[in-house]
Amino acid sequence: MKLIIASNNAHKLEEIKAILGDSFEEILSLREAGIEHETVEDGASFAENAAKKAREIMELSGCCALADDSGLCVDALGGAPGIFSARFAGEHGNDAANRRRLLELMKDTDERTAHFTCSIVLARPDGTSVTAEGYVFGEIARAEAGENGFGYDSLFLLPERGCTMAQLPSAEKNAISHRHNALQALLKKL
Ligand code: IMP
Repeated sequence: MKLIIASNNAHKLEEIKAILGDSFEEILSLREAGIEHETVEDGASFAENAAKKAREIMELSGCCALADDSGLCVDALGGAPGIFSARFAGEHGNDAANRRRLLELMKDTDERTAHFTCSIVLARPDGTSVTAEGYVFGEIARAEAGENGFGYDSLFLLPERGCTMAQLPSAEKNAISHRHNALQALLKKL
């Protein structure tokens, strides 16, 4: 069976291939499958957005399609930025502005706990789907540290390791990440 990943992100593709490679004959990015499509992410949860993306690509391609949606949930902010993680400061994908806004909102609180969530949905041409979630728990740092990763990594403290996600080499991050945990959970369900 062929699997299309609803993404062109090389890093995500590599991670997905490494974990699901044996379960499918071929794993292709959107570009490799010749699909140009942007899903409007207007769902009320990570799972709804991932399901919408996966279903649209499955319908366009006629193949199995896998999509993920992820973000940061901060307890002191009632779970924000959540599904708005990519555009927390307004402009979509402005990671530096998003981190500045997070630090500003958190400057007077000692409640620092947070987690990354990833929802993954595999949509099949017969209309069935499989959903899995993965998490990684930590705390919001008081200042940025580390150069690796992206998004909120330099503000996400892993207390048991004594460093932020952005201070881990990428292979180490990939072994503990919310996306990794969601993919492993999906693999168990397949
Ligand atoms: P996406 O689901 O990969 O598009 O991620 C949405 C947003 O969540 C990103 O723009 C980041 O702000 C944040 N995010 C998701 N995963 C991570 C991560 O592994 N590290 C840091 N930020 C992340």
